[in-house]
Amino acid sequence: MAANGGLVQVDPSSNRHEQRSVTFVATRVPIGAIALAVLVASLLAEFGSDSMMPWLMGAAASALGAAAVLLRVPRSVPTEGNALVHAATPPMLRPMDAEVILKARAVELRSEERTKLLDALTDAVLLVDAHGETRFANEAAVERFGEENSVLGTRRAFDQLPAHVRRGVLGLAECDDAARRRFEFDWQGDRHAPVVVHATRAESHREALVAILMRDVRVEREADRMKTEFVSKASHELRTPLSSLRAYAEMLVDREYADDAEHDRFLRVILSEADRLSRLVDHMLDISRIESGIARADLVTTDLAALCRACVDEQQGEAKRRDISLALARTTGGATVPADGGLLKQVILNLVSNALKYTPEGGRVEVEVDFDALAREVVISVRDNGLGIPADALPQLFGKFYRVAGHEKVAKGTGLGLNLCRNIVEGMHGGKIGVDSEVGRGSRFWFAIPTEATLRKAA
Ligand code: ADP
Repeated sequence: MAANGGLVQVDPSSNRHEQRSVTFVATRVPIGAIALAVLVASLLAEFGSDSMMPWLMGAAASALGAAAVLLRVPRSVPTEGNALVHAATPPMLRPMDAEVILKARAVELRSEERTKLLDALTDAVLLVDAHGETRFANEAAVERFGEENSVLGTRRAFDQLPAHVRRGVLGLAECDDAARRRFEFDWQGDRHAPVVVHATRAESHREALVAILMRDVRVEREADRMKTEFVSKASHELRTPLSSLRAYAEMLVDREYADDAEHDRFLRVILSEADRLSRLVDHMLDISRIESGIARADLVTTDLAALCRACVDEQQGEAKRRDISLALARTTGGATVPADGGLLKQVILNLVSNALKYTPEGGRVEVEVDFDALAREVVISVRDNGLGIPADALPQLFGKFYRVAGHEKVAKGTGLGLNLCRNIVEGMHGGKIGVDSEVGRGSRFWFAIPTEATLRKAA
């Protein structure tokens, strides 16, 4: 493939940088090199013969060599038009023409900078001609199409694109003006993923080229999917208490109650559903504030043992109502950590309230505070001897809107409490949260907050 007076010289076995850098070197073998080769050959031949021929050849070669040195035959010079594909070896120009040399060097430097810039992109960039032959491939493109398919001057990279994209790209090359097209498809290569391709027509030296930019949109698609899933789950969760509120309000308006006692029961249902609705909305807002980085933890030295004691005291009434024993079973000295007391109190209350909800009457809930000297963190555990959680449910437990099958009959909930706990512990305090559980025996929910020393070390 001829271009700019040179040939594409690609050795598929050489590495890619070399391939690209030797691209447009002129095909002319320097005369000096030929002369030197002839001279060396004639000198070698002279050892085996005493005829005059080698001497004559040697003299001719010397003359040719000297002429070559004087003339300094130039190799092809890259111009700005083919800046993407350039000669790596500095062009040799006539010494008199300093301006030309400087201009060529400037073009070469600019070309190197552009190549470096394109190589720094995580998107694949491919430049093809009107036949789909590769003129340039950045590092991301070589990685995507494969080294063997990125050889310049071949259609191998282009041929890996789906037929409709190939047709579109070739169609662009035939357009007159700077046209663009966007394609979206599933990349079928080893890194199977949704990709978006932007193809733009360009022109170099009146030759039509098409720049193809390919972006892996897997992460964006996953984020979109999660957003859609969140919205649909959230609407479903909001609709349940709303329909219940509406139904009971309608019964009250239509006086569909037998007596005052039923009238009061309907009102209590409305109150409890309204509470559930506002809890749901609060949890959703809290989670979205934390995930979007709007909410900030106010980390001050906090005594977690004192915080646990306060939570246990606060929940004592609810425990008594359910006939469950609730106690702070173990504490340790030195349980102070840099933490946002208000947020961690929310976590402890959530775990204790869950333990009370999912433990039958007569059960036991215990809170423990430990100091893990090795990991340098304070560990809070909330143990119950309640329903327990099946092993297959454990991985989803801290996800959004997840509830263990069958538990909705035991207690009302939002399925967001544990997700909020994880966000507060891991996202805002750099801690860890987890659970050990066995169906029929109970659960231990725990979280660990790093002590000040650990935080300082990390900073
Ligand atoms: P919910 O508001 O539904 O309690 P959570 O996110 O706090 O939401 O909890 C998610 C699910 O985890 C609960 O619906 C329940 O199925 C299960 N769960 C949480 N804590 C316990 C526990 N101590 N014992 C058994 N199951 C629990």
